[in-house]
Amino acid sequence: MKTIDLIVPCYNEEAGLEYFVSETNKVIDSLPDYSFRYILVNDGSRDKTYLVMKKLAKEFNNIKYISFSRNFGKEAAMYAGLQHSTADYVVVMDADLQHPPCVFPQMIEALEKEGYDCCATKRDDREGESKFRGIFSKLFFKISNKLTDVKNPYGAMDYRMMTRQMVDAILELSEVQRFSKGIFSWVGFNTKWISFKTVERQHGTTTWKFSGLFKYAIDGITCFSVAPLRFTAVMGAVIFLISLIYIIITLIQTLFFGITTPGYVTTLCAVLFLGGITEMSIGILGEYIGRIYMESKDRPIYITKHSNFEEENNEEKENMQ
Ligand code: UDP
Ligand code: MG
Repeated sequence: MKTIDLIVPCYNEEAGLEYFVSETNKVIDSLPDYSFRYILVNDGSRDKTYLVMKKLAKEFNNIKYISFSRNFGKEAAMYAGLQHSTADYVVVMDADLQHPPCVFPQMIEALEKEGYDCCATKRDDREGESKFRGIFSKLFFKISNKLTDVKNPYGAMDYRMMTRQMVDAILELSEVQRFSKGIFSWVGFNTKWISFKTVERQHGTTTWKFSGLFKYAIDGITCFSVAPLRFTAVMGAVIFLISLIYIIITLIQTLFFGITTPGYVTTLCAVLFLGGITEMSIGILGEYIGRIYMESKDRPIYITKHSNFEEENNEEKENMQ
């Protein structure tokens, strides 16, 4: 029997977690040929998510949980889940039922019958989302597909089912600053994209803010491309050429025709323009240096406080003795 691990990052999901498990169990029960296991990752929630997890784990023996010592972010939670997964197929999904479990059969079919290594989801409609956010994300997908090796369709989501081989490849990328959508695409393998109509969050509220999305977009590009650095170099070269031509023209004018160019407006423009460009270039450079700095510390991606995986390991040890 094939095994499937469901990795579910949870941050302040106490209100909806039980409902999520009961809804997902309905789909699991309709697929008796597969053995499912949940890996719930509590990402330092400030509510009672951990207690709900513990309760659920007591109730169902196919529920495993990992609880972080603080909030490390969804990316870290997904990584922890992937690290602990052992199944043939691995699913990454949200706890708010915005990623409907009813597409499992479709995903399994893509992996088993159609020969894909991954079946990922994208959303076509952006209902209930502000226009501004929609335009911004469309722009982000366009730019990042152009600049990086990462090719994702517009509306690509993290929700996907992957083969063991692909998960192992993802785990080889142990960078601290993780951008999963990029990593999923970077490792290659054949991905089938399916779409479904998104629904409103069932319980709780989204934790994303616009500033967070902006940071996410910058991460998406800088984690996978040095194009912005190249851009500053090219811009420098172009400005240098233009100013060279300008200098030659001014010199000729002054030496041969005795025209003195009227002064300070041009100077002011040049100073401000170059100042702005220099600042921007330093900023881009700084962004990459910051990344090198964070990576070079080589800190762990997450820290576990509680987990019932340990209990399992301890039991195994006891049995061996
Ligand atoms: N999440 C997490 N850590 C965080 C923020 C979110 O583990 O710091 C989880 C959250 O519990 C949910 C998923 O990531 O299962 C997606 O979060 P959310 O629904 O807030 O984002 P959206 O659906 O708006 O993208
Ligand atoms: Mg959500």
